[in-house]
Amino acid sequence: MYKDSALEILPKRHWIALGLTCLFLAALLIFIPVQQELQRRTFAYQVPLPEKTQSKPDQPEIIWDMHEIRPGENLAQLFKNRDLSPKSLYLLTQTEHGSALDRLHPGDAIGFQIENDELIAFRLEKSLYESFEFHLVDSKFNSKKIVLEPDTIESFAQGTINTSLFETGMDAGLSNSVIMQLASIFGWDVDFALDIREGDNFSLIYEEKYLDGKKVGDGDILVARFENQGRSYTAVRYADDSGYSQYYTPSGLSMRKAFLRTPVDFTRISSRFNLNRRHPILHKIRAHRGVDYAARTGTPIKAAGDGKVIFAGRKGGYGKVLILQHGSSYTTLYAHLNAFHRTIRRGKKVKQGQIVAYVGSSGLASGPHLHYEFRVNGVHRNPLTVKLPHARPIDESRKKDFMHYAQVMVMRLESHLYGDYFASR
Ligand SMILES: [Zn+2]
Repeated sequence: MYKDSALEILPKRHWIALGLTCLFLAALLIFIPVQQELQRRTFAYQVPLPEKTQSKPDQPEIIWDMHEIRPGENLAQLFKNRDLSPKSLYLLTQTEHGSALDRLHPGDAIGFQIENDELIAFRLEKSLYESFEFHLVDSKFNSKKIVLEPDTIESFAQGTINTSLFETGMDAGLSNSVIMQLASIFGWDVDFALDIREGDNFSLIYEEKYLDGKKVGDGDILVARFENQGRSYTAVRYADDSGYSQYYTPSGLSMRKAFLRTPVDFTRISSRFNLNRRHPILHKIRAHRGVDYAARTGTPIKAAGDGKVIFAGRKGGYGKVLILQHGSSYTTLYAHLNAFHRTIRRGKKVKQGQIVAYVGSSGLASGPHLHYEFRVNGVHRNPLTVKLPHARPIDESRKKDFMHYAQVMVMRLESHLYGDYFASR
């Protein structure tokens, strides 16, 4: 018998071992690259994908070439700068909202989408809330107006003044516009230049406006409290039937007064109300029955309250004088005028805050100033300290509704200040 088979070179069990080894090596050769590929893919997957995470899944990201309008710019020129045909601009103006393009204002923003030198979309942003979009469809543009309604949230803030209202307001996170609102609401009761003392404090609930989770501005103050030198003032915003809003005390009195405390923007008070004053020019004891506000010649003087002109002319040492009658018991007097406002005549009605005259030094005056007098039933009162009557209170027909609303708002303010005790009652 012969054994020509190679099988005979090795014993049978060795061949089995060899076969298993080959299988194992082959498996390794296949497995290692697969493993490496898997590792590579895993790594690639962990790299952040900015485009994917930032664009909304259902809206492919559109890239607008945006431009903010500067004074003197016009669309024709801006189109020309981008080598766009005047015809594309003409087509935009022929759309439903094309007239929006008639008037551009500095600060408006426009956006272009250009493909193969052709305008395929155009955008005009009038504000954060209002924009227009034009898209090319079948060689014509369609147009749409996009109005975004900001979300309004109500925020609470408070501060204790150690420097000025402005600085404390900023520290409390209030914007300029909210601080100005605060000053104008309480400005009838508190002179923010002269009356502020350390420890005075304020608290308020006001509106903040958000678009897509981003703050875009402030709304109105809804309720606010100001404590000045131990006295507390609370104001609630309330709209009348015609939608005009004003601030009232929780009992329904207007926060506004029937009179401005000072009818002129002055540089300093040069002489106060003093019944035993020595006159600076006459050098005699002569009562000073008003307040002198030093201001430059020509500074406008405002009517302190709604009223009627009962005198406009010259009166000896007072020089040019204006006297206003307010209701039956009040008169205000403005002296040493440079001129009257051109509309001022005897018998003429004036509104509070209306410009009625200009500061001068006519008559016996040592320099340009306004001499201002305030009379109640004919008796001179100190304009700086006289208790000023409130402007018209809440209308009787709205009073019940207002009182309820004001109570709720004051409770809400106090729940922030003193915890939830009030709110939960
Ligand atoms: Zn005077």
